Amino acid sequence: MNSEPLLYRVSCNDLAGHRIHVTLHIAQPDPAGQHLFLPAWIPGSYLIRDFSRQIESIQAECNGKAIKIAKQNNHQWHCEPCSGPLTISYVVYAWDLSVRSAHLDESHAFFNGTSVFLGVSGQEHVPCLVDLQRPKAAKNWKVYTSMPEAKGHQGAAKRHGFGLYKAPDYDALIDHPFELGTPQVIQFEACGALHEMVFTGVIPNLDLERIAADTKQICEAQIALFEPESKAVPFLDSSDRYVFMTMVTGDDYGGLEHRSSTALVASRRDLPTLNQREEAKSDGYLSFLGLVSHEYFHTWNVKRIKPAAFAPYRYLEENHTQLLWVFEGFTSYYDDLMLLRAGVVDQSTYHSLLTKNINAVYRSPGRFKQSVADSSFDTWTRFYKQDENSPNALVSYYSKGALVALGLDLYIRTHSQNNKSLDDVMRLLWERYGRDFFNTAPQGVAENAMPELIREATGIDTRDFIMRYAYGCDDLPLAELFSAQGVSLNWKSSTPLPSLDVRFSENACNELKLATVYENGAAHQAGLSAGDLLIAIDGLRVTNQQRLKQLLKAYQAGDSVQLHVFRRDELRTFTARLNPAPLDTCSLSLNPASSHE
Ligand code: ZN
Repeated sequence: MNSEPLLYRVSCNDLAGHRIHVTLHIAQPDPAGQHLFLPAWIPGSYLIRDFSRQIESIQAECNGKAIKIAKQNNHQWHCEPCSGPLTISYVVYAWDLSVRSAHLDESHAFFNGTSVFLGVSGQEHVPCLVDLQRPKAAKNWKVYTSMPEAKGHQGAAKRHGFGLYKAPDYDALIDHPFELGTPQVIQFEACGALHEMVFTGVIPNLDLERIAADTKQICEAQIALFEPESKAVPFLDSSDRYVFMTMVTGDDYGGLEHRSSTALVASRRDLPTLNQREEAKSDGYLSFLGLVSHEYFHTWNVKRIKPAAFAPYRYLEENHTQLLWVFEGFTSYYDDLMLLRAGVVDQSTYHSLLTKNINAVYRSPGRFKQSVADSSFDTWTRFYKQDENSPNALVSYYSKGALVALGLDLYIRTHSQNNKSLDDVMRLLWERYGRDFFNTAPQGVAENAMPELIREATGIDTRDFIMRYAYGCDDLPLAELFSAQGVSLNWKSSTPLPSLDVRFSENACNELKLATVYENGAAHQAGLSAGDLLIAIDGLRVTNQQRLKQLLKAYQAGDSVQLHVFRRDELRTFTARLNPAPLDTCSLSLNPASSHE
């Protein structure tokens, strides 16, 4: 058994060129010729990204002598046979400001192992050491990661220092991203465990204490859901801390989950500043807290409780599963619900978060063509590759998956006289699949296992419910489900104006470009297409959405209008019959006659 650790030396000296230099020492390479690989995708983001395309150069050396290394396919290399230790040197270009790969400049470095650490075929279970070198021009940088320091090894890093870090195997090596620099940092304890929040980017007067206080409440509510008695945190199998690393920019939003950390990007304007301390939480801040809640929930649901298709991950190809409606959808349901349970939002704010999601699902006609199970399976080619027709053709396993979770929760509560809930399902999943995931042979949830698991956890038969709403395309009977719990759901139009049934491009300041033409809507019937530039209605110029609304005030549903558009550089005229405004906005209210708590 090969046990000599693999050693990765990482140097970030070319700050201006955004190049990370890596040398990989393999003490006991395959004598028949070592195979190496780089993941084609990063777990949590279901798209083949070909990270290997950022490797600018690569060399191999054995006993001080250069040997041949050749590309085998998009993601794999092969070295010529050699005896003795093998050293691979390569350069990674790191200029992607996203949570998914790597970014390096004079202000910081952020990288995921999936972009930086070559895998050594046959040695995926060998321990790995990362020797992180301090950049020469960055004397004051510190290191933030959930990867444990290599205690007991000569040159082990001290907390937040450069030096040696250690991972027990390749899966762990690429599941602890690194942030290097001089970020704003705050720590807190949740259920006795250390949590660290790291904010990179220029953020004047950031109210770190407010963010930490709210996040602590969210973390404790989630720990209490999964471990109501012991209040044990989930990540101590991988690290002694959990790290939220946030890149703050002008206008970004997103996150990626890891086993003991998460990488986020957030907009500066969404984060609270010290002078807003007395103010209520803004919508932007709530969406940041929702993101924090979502990624933290993944620590249980997808990083440890996984579909069988991800246990283990296969890094060189798509990993298909129909269950992302459970792993992303349930997580999306709980992310906002946890804000309520944590006391971070009140019930009426929670209802508005819930209705926002319901509205989003009901505005997309694609939900009648694709189930959330199929959307999960096809995410690699469809959800992650959206275009102008996606609202007509796709359903989101995030947003409709969250509604399936909501529907199941209401259904279980009602059919168990409020003795059971979706929480019982999550706890069974955690006990059965999650708690010991990294300590035992990994086992995931089988594709067809959910109905039986729900029955086992709650005693309720949800087979038909799941077939109809997760594997079929029916709308959930939300009004009925809510009503049984003493809540009424009502629909109205967001506008009194008649409708063209289109969505305009979001960045349209002084032009009205059609982003989506909804199938069978007024614009579709008239012959308009996504990409058309609307310039006039009945001969009157329209330049922006405000002007369009003013003009539409003169019309009623059923009226015909001439629409003048540019398609490419050609002027075209179409006649459209305006539709009534759709009932696209729902509201929730507690039924006063009910004794529901
Ligand atoms: Zn997610």
